[in-house]
Amino acid sequence: MAGYAFFQNSFVPLSEAKVGIMTHALHYGTACFEGIRGNWNSEEEQIYLFRTREHYERLQKSCHILKIALPYTVDELCDKTVELVSMNGYQEDVYIRPLAYKSSEVIGVRLHNLEDDLLIFVVPFGDYLDVTKGINCCVSSWRRIDDSMIPPRAKITGLYVNSALAKTEAVENGFDEAILLTYDGHVSEGSGENVFLVQDGKLVTPPSSDNILTGITRDTVIRLALEEMGVETVERRIARSELYTADECFLSGTAAHITPVVEIDHRKVGGGVIGKITKELQGLYFDVVRGKKNKYIDWCLPAYKRAPKA
Ligand code: PMP
Repeated sequence: MAGYAFFQNSFVPLSEAKVGIMTHALHYGTACFEGIRGNWNSEEEQIYLFRTREHYERLQKSCHILKIALPYTVDELCDKTVELVSMNGYQEDVYIRPLAYKSSEVIGVRLHNLEDDLLIFVVPFGDYLDVTKGINCCVSSWRRIDDSMIPPRAKITGLYVNSALAKTEAVENGFDEAILLTYDGHVSEGSGENVFLVQDGKLVTPPSSDNILTGITRDTVIRLALEEMGVETVERRIARSELYTADECFLSGTAAHITPVVEIDHRKVGGGVIGKITKELQGLYFDVVRGKKNKYIDWCLPAYKRAPKA
């Protein structure tokens, strides 16, 4: 049942979706991608795809920067994703990976005069980081790449070497995740997550000009905090030492959901326990992404054609 991909404009068994060894994107990192979660709701026996439209809108922008012509509209991409997830038939949380890439099989570093293609696949996907106990982070010795080098607002595959260096360094040194600083030493983001602090009852998070990916989960957090908890978010530059003195800290991301951080660089954050605001936000967020909050149901695209249970 499981194991279909969308590849070269058709749905094919995953085992048949293969690219050639000369594919441009494989050599030069010339591809843009997204990560979309499908969240299993066991009562409704439904998978809700979370904020699919916003992910494809971001993919369009990434492709615009990388001069990749996306052959489909956002609506078509949403439809194809629903079709693919329902073909695969999973009954658990899934992760959907659309990748738009320079598909020509040629040698030569450039963006122009190359063919483009799009593929999408879906895999079962549980927790990426431990969301229950609170994780340990370090400030990475690797700095976040600047917009003048490779624009981090675009989700470009080549950019992720920066994240991979930071993540592996962190894990090999006994931490769960890395937080990267900008070149001039301000807090930027995690290897695959945005960073939030809680200070005096407000959320604080770096602005998009500090070389972050402007996360869809980040936006979800800002909206839920304000609308459901009356908690405001301040977007401003953050000094490294504020990480140590914050009342609470958490990471946000499609894979990471809302992951509490309880220790940074061997210093306990907020007494080393999951903070009150983080916990409340996390609870709200999990209900929203599983389609359990009617007010936000427009963010949830059902993959299966089933009548919701009354
Ligand atoms: N920053 C980076 C570098 C990421 O890879 C991700 C994951 N896509 C995020 C932030 C969070 O973005 P989102 O909430 O849209 O998944």
